[in-house]
Amino acid sequence: MSEPLGYPIDLHTHSLRSDGAFEPAEVVRRAAARGVRVQALSDHDTLAGAAEAVAEGGRLGVRVIASTELNTESEWGDVHVLGYFLDPNDAALEDRLRLLREDRGRRIELMVEKLNALGFPVRLERVLEIAQGGALGRPHLAQALFEAGHVPTYDAAFVTLISKTSPAYVARVGLTPHEAVALVRAHGGVPSLAHPGTVTDADALVPQLVDAGLAGIECYYGSHTPEATIRYLALAARYDLVPTGGSDFHGRGEHGAPLGGVRVPEGSIRALEAKRGDGGGHGTQPSAYHSDPVGRAR
Ligand code: AMP
Ligand code: ZN
Ligand code: FE
Ligand code: FE
Repeated sequence: MSEPLGYPIDLHTHSLRSDGAFEPAEVVRRAAARGVRVQALSDHDTLAGAAEAVAEGGRLGVRVIASTELNTESEWGDVHVLGYFLDPNDAALEDRLRLLREDRGRRIELMVEKLNALGFPVRLERVLEIAQGGALGRPHLAQALFEAGHVPTYDAAFVTLISKTSPAYVARVGLTPHEAVALVRAHGGVPSLAHPGTVTDADALVPQLVDAGLAGIECYYGSHTPEATIRYLALAARYDLVPTGGSDFHGRGEHGAPLGGVRVPEGSIRALEAKRGDGGGHGTQPSAYHSDPVGRAR
């Protein structure tokens, strides 16, 4: 039985190079099988899957955009910045991303220590095995906690043992939202604010990020209500941001939508490309992209 078709553009996906469940080429194959024709592989703090994904995309007629997602945590809440059109061979960028991945590793190590002290023993070695060399994150820890029998399901770990309010939680240190946007711009990429629903006071933060070079905002996202999508489209129109969207597919648990599961307007890619190299801060897009509110696909 073939999989139901999704929408052709998916600008937010993850693979085993960070906390997704499948190899980069496999994510592209699955996306292609769902009818995706343009896909951003946006693994956290790495471009390591880009070459493999681009090559597989070449075989299958999927245009793969090399991307990353930079997660920040601050008084602004969870601000995740997607960086599009980055160069996987940019050594200076890789130096910065490596530091961020090292921070991820330290954070997960600390959380493992805390969980052990709290009576929920997990072995760091097992977490590392699950990650298979990808940028470490809570999903790997959630899988280990599930395997150890401390939570009834993988997803349950996120609402109990490793939620923000859990005593085992360790906050992320690293980039501010403004620095994340500036980092993407400094390396020739096009930054978009991911799933703005996790941001505290997006109305106040967005203009600051626009000054730092923000070019897009992820209006189309599986868990957005139609009202939320409309609200973010209004923000996009106000600051000349390109409305982007994607599944945030990980292939683990219930998080995210199916590949191609979110409708993204056709013109988004051209609009994003037009934002390359403009340094940001002064959007120039016509408002034609700002009038297409859509909810989740299926
Ligand atoms: P981290 O970057 O280590 O804080 O982990 C964040 C990642 O965990 C996200 O990118 C998602 O993959 C996953 N995640 C966050 N919240 C949830 C949730 N409630 N249920 C399942 N996965 C989640
Ligand atoms: Zn993730
Ligand atoms: Fe995210
Ligand atoms: Fe993501």
